Amino acid sequence: MNPPNIIDRLTDALGVSGVLTGERLQLRQTHDWSDASAAPPRALLLPADTAQVAAALRICHEFGCPVAVQGGLTGLAGGANPMEGEIALSLARLDTIEDLDSVAGTVLVQAGVTLEKLQQSCAEQGWAFPLDLGARGSCQLGGNAATNAGGSRVLRYGMMRNLILGLEVVMPDGTVLTMLDRVIKNNAGFDLKQLFIGSEGTLGVITRLSLALAPQQSEQCTVLCGVPSFDAALHLLRHAKVSLLGLSAFEVMWQGYFEASLQAKRSKSPLSDRHPVYVLVESVADARSGASQSMEAFLEQAIEAGLVVDAVVAQTGAQHEELWGIREGVSELLSLVRPCATFDVSVAITRMNELVERLQVELSAAHPDQQHLFFGHLGDGNLHLISGPYANHADLEHAENLVYRCIGAFEGSISAEHGIGVVKRDFLHHSRSPAEISLMRRLKAMLDPQGILNPGRVFAADK
Ligand code: FAD
Ligand code: ZN
Repeated sequence: MNPPNIIDRLTDALGVSGVLTGERLQLRQTHDWSDASAAPPRALLLPADTAQVAAALRICHEFGCPVAVQGGLTGLAGGANPMEGEIALSLARLDTIEDLDSVAGTVLVQAGVTLEKLQQSCAEQGWAFPLDLGARGSCQLGGNAATNAGGSRVLRYGMMRNLILGLEVVMPDGTVLTMLDRVIKNNAGFDLKQLFIGSEGTLGVITRLSLALAPQQSEQCTVLCGVPSFDAALHLLRHAKVSLLGLSAFEVMWQGYFEASLQAKRSKSPLSDRHPVYVLVESVADARSGASQSMEAFLEQAIEAGLVVDAVVAQTGAQHEELWGIREGVSELLSLVRPCATFDVSVAITRMNELVERLQVELSAAHPDQQHLFFGHLGDGNLHLISGPYANHADLEHAENLVYRCIGAFEGSISAEHGIGVVKRDFLHHSRSPAEISLMRRLKAMLDPQGILNPGRVFAADK
């Protein structure tokens, strides 16, 4: 009798519903939002709980079979895309919100819960989970932790890392690490959970999270401002930080992005004139705190100082959605400019304009037929750029090289939010020193000696 093969062993451990192959596999999406290549996985594993994740990894470890970890597949760096010969492991069935402590303001969730599901559930109980991003409907909290996601409210609440109290992680050999603190203060030795946050599934599989909530704020003010220059936008940011009650978002869109987003959505600008730069300002606060009066005063002063030329204030929930829709129109835009290069870089806020001007000049000279659309989270020094469409792959690579070399020269980061995955792997040296990359490699080799978990993501796999 032949010894059982890996698929038989996995089926014994996870049941037939937990191991998809053949036709059942073909019906499922197994690649993320990036244009990075993806091979069909040997199987798609759908474990039902932590014990099954551990059993699956133990078997893959024993067989030396590489595993691609998959959350909601909204990633933009290709990290979740299976490579040739890999098995995909999805957290989709770990989708329970286990316990919300409404006194402490903490919640215990499984990794496959989507961001939106948690946001809605917290709102029903007077709390908020404040991380927010355009992919909220599909991205999972485990994926948010694995990528240390940012989004539009980092300015007020920090990145995903700042909201994580504890994690449960399954190591590549199946060992379960339970680090599910529900308190903010714990200095008992190394804070090991930090290793797994932002390591893009290369060191362990996140199965449960303990998260900190914020009080729900009942009043939300959203304003879209037409701004005469980037310099004015910078002064406006300072003004907002100093004087605006409950500032929660400060998003910038250059004219090219603003108009392309409206065009992709087939909508009209809510402002009558065109402006070089647009800023979306949002504040959230308690209804009794006078947030809307604070926003009115902020705007009046900004107009008087010439920092804002025109503005529209959302009066209803629908108008709030409409204004945010222009900023979050990335998915519609991407479908118009693919194949394209997308960037999520960061530089010191004071150097952002210099960077944008240089990139605009150099990209337009080298690639005059493409659109180069700039926008971002100005409050965080995080710039997004969509550049495309590139019919020719060599041109796309040229644009990537041009941008990342420039970021290196500005001492910025080649990835402020989306992670390195496979898409930015060859550019890591622009933001990390040889000593840093060497330490990352040594940590990977120690925690995953067989190299089975997301190999070749972040840096090339050791041969
Ligand atoms: P996936 O795409 O499935 O995976 C991402 C990476 O994490 C992969 O390397 C994967 O292997 C790993 N991973 C996933 N789950 C786990 C787990 N449980 N354990 C270990 N590793 C895991 N990102 C931002 O930061 N800010 C934004 O504002 C933002 N806006 C976006 C808007 C749109 C329209 C889209 C499509 C994407 C946006 N993103 C943004 C990118 C993306 O949504 C985030 O990176 C998100 O955190 C990915 O979560 P996911 O569950 O979809 O992960
Ligand atoms: Zn972003």
